[in-house]
Amino acid sequence: MKISQALGNVCTVFDSITEKQERQDLGDSKIIYLKDTDCAIKSQVSLSAFTSYRVGGAAEWYVAPRNLEALQASVEYAKTQDLGVIVLGAGSNLLVSDRGLPGLVISTRHLRHSHFDPQTGQLTVAAGESIPNLAWEAAKLGWEGLEWAVGIPGTVGGAVVMNAGAHHSCIADMLVSAQVLLPDGTLETLTADQIGYSYRTSSLQNRESSTGNPCQRIVTQATFQLQPGIDPARVLQVTKEHKKHRLNTQPYNFPSCGSVFRNPTPYAAGWLIEQTGLKGHQIGGAQVALLHANFIVNRGGAKASDIFCLIRHIQQQVQEHWSICLEPEVKMIGEFQVAA
Ligand SMILES: Cc1cc2nc3c(=O)[nH]c(=O)nc-3n(C[C@H](O)[C@H](O)[C@H](O)COP(=O)(O)OP(=O)(O)OC[C@H]3O[C@@H](n4cnc5c(N)ncnc54)[C@H](O)[C@@H]3O)c2cc1C
Repeated sequence: MKISQALGNVCTVFDSITEKQERQDLGDSKIIYLKDTDCAIKSQVSLSAFTSYRVGGAAEWYVAPRNLEALQASVEYAKTQDLGVIVLGAGSNLLVSDRGLPGLVISTRHLRHSHFDPQTGQLTVAAGESIPNLAWEAAKLGWEGLEWAVGIPGTVGGAVVMNAGAHHSCIADMLVSAQVLLPDGTLETLTADQIGYSYRTSSLQNRESSTGNPCQRIVTQATFQLQPGIDPARVLQVTKEHKKHRLNTQPYNFPSCGSVFRNPTPYAAGWLIEQTGLKGHQIGGAQVALLHANFIVNRGGAKASDIFCLIRHIQQQVQEHWSICLEPEVKMIGEFQVAA
């Protein structure tokens, strides 16, 4: 076995027999193992399986750290290689370009732990935990407060960053604090006030540093204030009702990213799109959902570019009819081309 390269003491690239075997498993892609962690950074990993639209090209580099140390090592590696970092939760609010993403995509999907503290009523959870799973778990324990979140198919990190919400509640209402990893590798704990929440947004979204470089803070864990000691049957009942309501009113049977546009107060984006006559409108495999016009669904074989063109078409039509500019809630990342 030939070890071809050592980047300081951070990583080692296996480049011969072992790499050949890896290559056979992974096509032409490379793997970089970070020393002293069980972290493997892979090249050219398709992201379509990691986004709820089921579209998107490959990440130039991809890693899914299993603990905080491995996450810190990944960020450090990106810094030494001058790679931009993009954080991926459950990919349930992301439209990734068909051309893929440059830099290092860090998935939080394996950052998992949760602790319900009955003394304080606080739930402390790692960034990669699933929000709907937590809602069910809390309900079974008789902890009130997360019932609204049962239909939001994201991670804790994504929900904290997006200020996810439903049924007149949102993350900002219950967040005690979030731990974030700063670009320099240090950890900071922020309160909800420090995060600066408003409707479906927070200061944690795509912050730029004073030098103009992306200054992404990665949420590593969060603490929520819940209300323990409630009859589990009651909390489960409300949770089930919320789930049922969503299944009846939103298209969960096709891949989507939930609501595509923010609601432009006092209007609901879905109502405006429906009144513009766009329900069912289709570009390629992307369609304005018949059940809820603020959803775009992948009817099969959609490309990210189909979804992107449909988003632009909706914006154009709604602007023409109502003189209202619909602002996307979904995050579009990578390169997209506006049709001439
Ligand atoms: C069927 C369906 C229904 C939905 N319903 C709702 C709803 O009712 N209400 C609602 O608010 N949303 C809804 N959504 C949208 C989505 O689930 C939420 O926005 C969710 O909070 C996104 O979480 P995620 O983990 O998937 O984040 P991703 O989509 O992976 O990422 C979203 C953004 O957060 C960043 N990010 C993710 N994790 C971290 C982290 N740990 N640290 C720093 N940045 C991070 C990403 O870089 C990206 O900019 C729905 C989506 C679907 C598919």
